[in-house]
Amino acid sequence: MTLHLPTLMLVLIVGFLLMLLELAMARSAWVRSPELRIWNWGGWAMLGGFVGLAARLAVPEWISVLMGNGLIQIGLAIYARAIYRFVAQAEPPRWIPGFTVVALVALALMLPWPLNQRTSVLSFLFIVPLVPCAWLIYRRAWHAERSLRSIVFTFGLCIAALLVRGVHAWVSPQDYTDLMQASFGQGGTFLMAFVALLGAGWGFVLAGFERTASQLEVLATHDGLTGCVNRRTADAMLSHALARGRRDGSPVALVLIDIDHFKQINDQYGHAAGDEALRGFAAAVRLRLRNSDVFGRWGGEEFGLILPATDRPGAMRLAEEVRASVEALELRASDGGAIPVRMSAGVAIASSDSELKSAALYRLADQALYAAKDQGRNRVVMADA
Ligand code: GH3
Ligand code: MG
Ligand code: MG
Repeated sequence: MTLHLPTLMLVLIVGFLLMLLELAMARSAWVRSPELRIWNWGGWAMLGGFVGLAARLAVPEWISVLMGNGLIQIGLAIYARAIYRFVAQAEPPRWIPGFTVVALVALALMLPWPLNQRTSVLSFLFIVPLVPCAWLIYRRAWHAERSLRSIVFTFGLCIAALLVRGVHAWVSPQDYTDLMQASFGQGGTFLMAFVALLGAGWGFVLAGFERTASQLEVLATHDGLTGCVNRRTADAMLSHALARGRRDGSPVALVLIDIDHFKQINDQYGHAAGDEALRGFAAAVRLRLRNSDVFGRWGGEEFGLILPATDRPGAMRLAEEVRASVEALELRASDGGAIPVRMSAGVAIASSDSELKSAALYRLADQALYAAKDQGRNRVVMADA
């Protein structure tokens, strides 16, 4: 089977150009993604490279060879930078740009070589930056954004195709006397380049969307200051916990917490210190919780704990532990003075056989919280059964 090279190149260039233009348009919608911008630059370099190769029909061979292969090598290094920044939030290891410079020098030195030998060595040079990228995603991001996996697959295909071409070009010089020669190795390479570049490109874009979507989900369900789930989410989780408790035959506890005299902390030390106190409070509470417990911010300085499979004594014990560790917090004001943080809590239990709805349970816990405030604050009160 032979493939018509000029046609393949034309398809590669037009298809790739279309993708880059679409990306450039889409990018304005999420300009905050510097990685996508970097990836796009890599794409333009690659496109320039393919145009350079195709220009062999019109310009002196040495210009086409240098521009074509040089820009592809540079494009691969830029892709590597985008992938490292996206996956590892770091620049790629220095040897990758260093290697690119070496490859460019080697490319110039190989100009007088026969086409088959140059093609063979270039194939191996193209593989080098692809390997660490695929490996990085495989090791660090396999279970993060799923779309990144398509980059591993397409880079893997590319590596395999380049290996085959590297060997094939060296052992079959008769197939590599002219770049536009229709041959198994040449045709396969361009077809693979087309598939891989489009595949990896869309994979990267989709991974960006995946990340944005999960960040939006966290923003929509969590409180930015304390990291607690917000009230809407906590309400839904309480209903869910109650339904589950009834099915499993286990009780569910709700602990409502309100920080004592919080207004005074704000008034005395400023709102920034107040925010710091809320953050410190949340961190201290979180240390006491199990994975299955839900910690929500109901609003202002009011919080709630949803404790599945927790009975009356268990809930009281936990609430008391939480209260004690908040009391033991050592928050410092900017002048070095201690900021005292205290809390009151109301505890209510939905036993496994009760038909208590979340609103009723909330009311019970709220009454107990009021009782704790009435009795002098800095204490835990259990609601009447
Ligand atoms: P009590 O012991 O009766 O609960 O008194 P309190 O001062 O804690 O209660 P109050 O409801 O009067 O005051 C709550 C204060 O919490 C008022 C509000 O300015 C403050 N607050 C609410 N949300 C935030 C926040 O996100 N950051 C800061 N710094 N303050 C907040
Ligand atoms: Mg308060
Ligand atoms: Mg309050």
